[in-house]
Amino acid sequence: MNVRSAIQTKSFYIGVDLGGTTFKALAVTPDGEILARRSGQSQADGDVHAVVAAILQTVDTLRADVAATGHELAAVGLGMAGIIELPAGIVRRAPNLPKWSGVDVRDLLRRQLNVPFAMENDANVALLGEAWLGAAHGLQHVVMIPLGTGVGGAVMIDGAILHGAKGFAGEIGHMVVEPNGRQCVCGSYGCLEQYVSGTAVARLAQPHYGTVTSEAVAQAARRGEAEALDIFHRVGWYLGIACANMAQLFNPQCIVIGGGVGEAFDLFHEPLQRVMRERSMLEVYEQVRVVPAACGPVAGSLGAAYHAMRETGQ
Ligand SMILES: [Zn+2]
Repeated sequence: MNVRSAIQTKSFYIGVDLGGTTFKALAVTPDGEILARRSGQSQADGDVHAVVAAILQTVDTLRADVAATGHELAAVGLGMAGIIELPAGIVRRAPNLPKWSGVDVRDLLRRQLNVPFAMENDANVALLGEAWLGAAHGLQHVVMIPLGTGVGGAVMIDGAILHGAKGFAGEIGHMVVEPNGRQCVCGSYGCLEQYVSGTAVARLAQPHYGTVTSEAVAQAARRGEAEALDIFHRVGWYLGIACANMAQLFNPQCIVIGGGVGEAFDLFHEPLQRVMRERSMLEVYEQVRVVPAACGPVAGSLGAAYHAMRETGQ
């Protein structure tokens, strides 16, 4: 008997979540066991090739980290912020990573990695992370709304991420919820992002609290301060509109609310649920649970690894 074939090779995957200032990476088994984690810098004004070199170095470091466990690297997945053309893997616009605009990231990394590579945008990998090991575990029909500095979005139907013609589908943050509302960074008016992002919470708090973070506003609300409670009540109202629209469009089993503002879920859940009930068909409403994200800051890197696993046929 061939000795080599008698040795069971265990595979692992690396997921990288590339944001505007840092990237997070982890090594994970097909069962979801995290073997190692690393992070690095992705300075927004930094050189693309320097960041790619740092990512490749981190892949090598993670390989070394898990070498003793006998696992072999099967594939690498990347999730990154921005408007990413898929499946081509070309960055069309990345406000938080301006030097990456126009870069063929898929080609750049594929040429330098000696294992299969797959990529997605950051909201899509966050949804995949939550559907694999988090709040939407095992579900096939899921909507994700990450409430960060901006507001993203991702939709999974029948277990597959909804991409649209060029991969730009699911930009829930730029759905209009106030027809004559505030102008958005995207050029439109009254986008969801203008009312429920961390930036929006801080802006709404400014007249009462001065320059503060959305986390500080959440703390004030938990102390029972009326102005802060009112801000999160408004967040819930607008999210209720958005969730009703998403529920009517996609009939999901679950809508996951993530990101920094998502951590204040308890402060806006009640108005969200009430407005959603008022504005969606009962049959649709009864099928869907709205829940806070469960994977925390590793959702993106876990989802990126899971995406690589799915793309390479595991
Ligand atoms: Zn917009």
